[in-house]
Amino acid sequence: MNKPVAARTVRSVCPHDCPSACALDVDLIDDETIGRVRGAKDDPYTAGVICEKVARYTERIHHPERLLHPLRRVGSKGAGQWQTIGWDEALDEIARRFTQIEDEFGPESIWPYFYAGTMGHVQRDGIDRLRHAKGYSRQYDTICIGTAWPGYIAGTGLLGGVNPEQMAEADCVVIWGTNAVHTQVNVMTHAMRARKERGAKIVVIDIYHTATMAQADMGLVLRPGSDGALAVAVMHVLLRDGLADRAYMSRYTDFDSGFEAHLATRTPEWAAEITGLSVAEIVDFAHLVGRTPASFFRLGLGFTRQRNGSSNMHAALCIPAMTGAWQHRGGGAFQSNSGTFKAR
Ligand code: SF4
Repeated sequence: MNKPVAARTVRSVCPHDCPSACALDVDLIDDETIGRVRGAKDDPYTAGVICEKVARYTERIHHPERLLHPLRRVGSKGAGQWQTIGWDEALDEIARRFTQIEDEFGPESIWPYFYAGTMGHVQRDGIDRLRHAKGYSRQYDTICIGTAWPGYIAGTGLLGGVNPEQMAEADCVVIWGTNAVHTQVNVMTHAMRARKERGAKIVVIDIYHTATMAQADMGLVLRPGSDGALAVAVMHVLLRDGLADRAYMSRYTDFDSGFEAHLATRTPEWAAEITGLSVAEIVDFAHLVGRTPASFFRLGLGFTRQRNGSSNMHAALCIPAMTGAWQHRGGGAFQSNSGTFKAR
């Protein structure tokens, strides 16, 4: 079958709640129909690569089974019996029922519960205008980064890190707690470029053998929630083996003798018991990042989804501070640069 001819190509941006925020080139067949969706080649981070999910957006947008009208349930829950109704009818019914609930129980009895998914002030945050106007219940609106970001900010004071494009200029890329092959495809673009052009080593740390780990030079599979133990043992080795940048620490960190004394007890043997890693794995990882000034730590969210998630994030973030990786181009850490923009 002939492919429809694109009338023009327009620039857009991926709407998903994904740190890549890919720049898109979207073919328009006509005013109602999109064609191919591609990653913009001239955007330095997207670099022409987007994930499979969004590359197939055309199928989703124009899928014949896509829900286009409100449905009212007419049978019992789970019976799958629905009646198509108009938008005006749906809005009137919801407004009437909300008002009834407010009158009977007070406005706080209604809780607009939402988080991200697709972004944008209208799509994501517009509902807050209704919440505030009506006095509905509020929420601390994250189900995602509530542990990760405080742990990161405890180290940096700001939710910001190295421009992730600079992963391509690293000599070692540590992908910690994120399955980038499936969820952060751009990380792989830049990590692979570093490997191809500079011979960079790729380390992947996770709780199971992921598709990302299959591409790593060093894969560390540890027990869930034990990442902080690995991190402090790595710091122990860095100090023990003379790989810590003490001049950098004294200038830019609050490292002191009390912390050093604490780390003296956090041996690789101690961490091996907790993490399930071998002593050799812990020492080899510490030696690799300790001897590679431009080590880039791409810190994900997965390893922070624990009751000790903030501590895990903070401990992992301390490693590049101890090696002084931040002062070398291609080195340092990145979780999100959301703190560098004040959009909300
Ligand atoms: S990787 Fe996929 S979901 Fe994430 S911003 Fe790019 S296109 Fe969107």
